[in-house]
Amino acid sequence: MKPLIAGNWKMNGLKASLNEIEALGPAPAACDVLICPPATLIAAMAPAAARFGIATGGQDCHPDPSGAHTGDISAEMLKDAGARFVIVGHSERRADHGESDALVRAKAEAGLRAGLVPIVCVGETEIQRERGEAEAVVGGQLEGSLPKGDGFVIAYEPVWAIGAGRTPTLDDIAAMHAFIRKRTNERIRILYGGSVKPSNAKEILALPDVNGALVGGASLKAADFSAIIAAA
Ligand code: PEP
Repeated sequence: MKPLIAGNWKMNGLKASLNEIEALGPAPAACDVLICPPATLIAAMAPAAARFGIATGGQDCHPDPSGAHTGDISAEMLKDAGARFVIVGHSERRADHGESDALVRAKAEAGLRAGLVPIVCVGETEIQRERGEAEAVVGGQLEGSLPKGDGFVIAYEPVWAIGAGRTPTLDDIAAMHAFIRKRTNERIRILYGGSVKPSNAKEILALPDVNGALVGGASLKAADFSAIIAAA
């Protein structure tokens, strides 16, 4: 399966950040490359990134196509702005905005309805892992958040590894990806996310059932993101 390396810029980036695309250069044929900038940059980034074979995505969407939802953005609007993917259920949204599995599924379904590829994020907290509940938590999130069909991507992101500079062991990543694979099918890409950087990308991306990476901090610098793409 062709790996997908996806950058999540989170709430970072102004117009000047679009220069990072030029610095990245063309995506290699062997892997798909995606950047999810803040919504304010999608329309400007999409054509610039497309010239390099790099896709653009949103970081969230509302379940409805339009309506009285001040401050929200629909999947159709992301598509209209040039997005091809949308991240849903990122742990920062689940925590900061109290997003439930049912809401995440509704957002993923909205992404599919609009012709986007949803990237559905799941992952356990540190306490849940210490209590031996990681698989039960991730299993519940998959059960509650995944849309029907197979036009989506799953990102396994242990909450305690995001932005923390530490990752699970390779054995733990492989075990969770095998667990997720058993609950999906061979056509679904399963990304690993959580402190992926140039120094650990190669060994993580070489694990079975790791079909790419969702990269936060290291996607903000073209040199680091390029090194991760090269590792794929
Ligand atoms: C993320 O926010 O999805 C993420 C994986 O962040 P980081 O790579 O910075 O841990």
